[in-house]
Amino acid sequence: MLYRPKFGPDFVQRTKQKLKGVTARILDQQINLAVTGLSGSGKTAFVTSLVNQLLEANEQAHLPFFSVVAESRLVGVKRDMQPNLNCSRFAYEEAIKQLSQQPPVWPASTSGVSQVRLKIRYRPAKGLNHFFTENINLTLDITDYPGEWLLDLPLLDMDFQQWIEHCQSELQQVNRQPLAEPFMLALNGLDLRAAGDELELQNIAQLYSQYLQNCRAKGVQLIQPGRFILPGELAGAPVLHFFPVLAAQIKEQKVDLLDPPKGSNIDLLIGRFNHYKEQVVKPFYKDHFKAFDRQVVLVDCLSALNQGYDSYQDLQSALDWVMRSFDYGRGNILNRLFKPKIDKLAFAASKADHITPDQQTNLVKLLDSMLHSARKKIQFEGVISQSTAVAAIRASKSALSSQNGQSIPVLSAIDKQGQPITLYPGDVPERLPSREFWLKQGFEFPHFAPPLLQGDHALPHIRMDQLLDFLLADKLL
Ligand code: GDP
Repeated sequence: MLYRPKFGPDFVQRTKQKLKGVTARILDQQINLAVTGLSGSGKTAFVTSLVNQLLEANEQAHLPFFSVVAESRLVGVKRDMQPNLNCSRFAYEEAIKQLSQQPPVWPASTSGVSQVRLKIRYRPAKGLNHFFTENINLTLDITDYPGEWLLDLPLLDMDFQQWIEHCQSELQQVNRQPLAEPFMLALNGLDLRAAGDELELQNIAQLYSQYLQNCRAKGVQLIQPGRFILPGELAGAPVLHFFPVLAAQIKEQKVDLLDPPKGSNIDLLIGRFNHYKEQVVKPFYKDHFKAFDRQVVLVDCLSALNQGYDSYQDLQSALDWVMRSFDYGRGNILNRLFKPKIDKLAFAASKADHITPDQQTNLVKLLDSMLHSARKKIQFEGVISQSTAVAAIRASKSALSSQNGQSIPVLSAIDKQGQPITLYPGDVPERLPSREFWLKQGFEFPHFAPPLLQGDHALPHIRMDQLLDFLLADKLL
């Protein structure tokens, strides 16, 4: 008997459609992008701009180096429901509202973890994906979190004794000593062996926290425990009511840190330190960090230059600590907790609109020189890293001005007092100058008010498209 196919053209068409649907679902992808940096490095401005650039991405002129846009393959981007109900929503709409005010205001800085989810719909590039389906979705989850929290990672490898030794060497630094006086005074009066007094510990912990806040106000960046500066949802919780004690105090009061009197002040301090490590530091890495696929680290090199030699050195040490979270070599602390999966890491010198275009290359070189020592020590196993300079929200315009018959690059902007200014902000050094340089002249990069948006939908920026391309292009093929 002759075999006759029962399937007419209609069936073939329906099967094709179904296949397209199934393939689209298989091809639908999700990616977790994390943004961090120390306080004031520009995270809120950056995430606001990142979301804004994507939502408004159809203007090719605006993102010429973002390949999916340049190739006219982007169909649309929209905000989607946030999947993690325990995490704050990134306040994008509020940020845009503040930037759209007259006069505009910079949005409030990052104080904890927050997230935003975007759905990016695009046409695949010519190739296998193109053969199967018309449009594909990429779900992009962006997480914003304080870089100070990464400074806590090394604590996981320290016991209380090691931690207090570390803190003591910091407390003895000339620039920190005067700031620590009220804390030291209260600490000296503490009887470590006496029955635990929660109120006294809370008071001294507040003085310790105040000392750390004062350090930060003076431009000191290497500050931990990170939650003492940015407690997030832990503000006021007893888990933060601990502090380091002095080696001399331990000796004088004959305290054995391995066997402290039960229920004593020192027993509570050790208990809280351990609780902080186990219940605050580890969960952050396990609940959030573990899920990140790609990471942006923002570094405000220009403010550090403004603040002087010590501040710059301190930022460098803080970055050394931050980078340990991306050291995926064997024997790393994170490898013992879980297998990290970040495969792309971008270091971005932020606020690049504070300098003229001719100085941008030097800014990247400066950032690289700052990261150099950490890069030598750590192993970015399987991680592609890149350094760049960006302005998430460009608040200045560059131009040429003629002076004594010569044309020099200048910036025009609105200063913090709301007055229009035109200036040459100065040269950026390729690497850290000597301490003497600051004694002679130093740096004075200005702060600008946010740009007037005047009905523009897309925020002005510098190099956000190149960064987006580095972070996402391979997922949008
Ligand atoms: P965060 O603490 O890391 O969240 O830092 P923010 O995003 O709040 O930025 C701190 C401040 O830096 C802002 O209030 C602005 O004054 C400034 N800033 C951040 N990004 C930019 C930028 O792209 N251009 C300019 N001119 N200033 C910026």
